[in-house]
Amino acid sequence: MSGYPFAKTGPLKTPVLRDEQIAVALQCQRDRWGANAQCPMCGHAEWIIGRKVVFLESPPTGLLTPATKYAALQVACANCGNTLLVNASIAGVLPEGHRP
Ligand SMILES: [Zn+2]
Repeated sequence: MSGYPFAKTGPLKTPVLRDEQIAVALQCQRDRWGANAQCPMCGHAEWIIGRKVVFLESPPTGLLTPATKYAALQVACANCGNTLLVNASIAGVLPEGHRP
C-alpha cells in the first residue's frame, strides 16, 4: 500500500475505508472478539464496520509536542447501534503510525 491509506471523498476529503480495509476490520473483529461476540447492551451478535474513520486527538503537552491524532474504526451493533471505537492500527487496517 502506498500513499494515503484511505479513499478520499466529498468536499471535506473525509477518509473512507476501502472494501479490502473493511474486510480486514471484520476479520480482526471475528478473530479477536470471537465469531459470536455479543453487544454488551442488547446481546445481539451482528456488527457493522463504519466506512468513515474517526480521529481521536490528544492535546499538545508542550510547545514541542504537538497534538496527536489516532485513527479509530467505528464498530456498531446492527441491532441497537451501540458503537465502539477500535484503534485502526492495532486492528491491522492502517499503518503503525496511528497506534496510541
Ligand atoms: Zn446492541
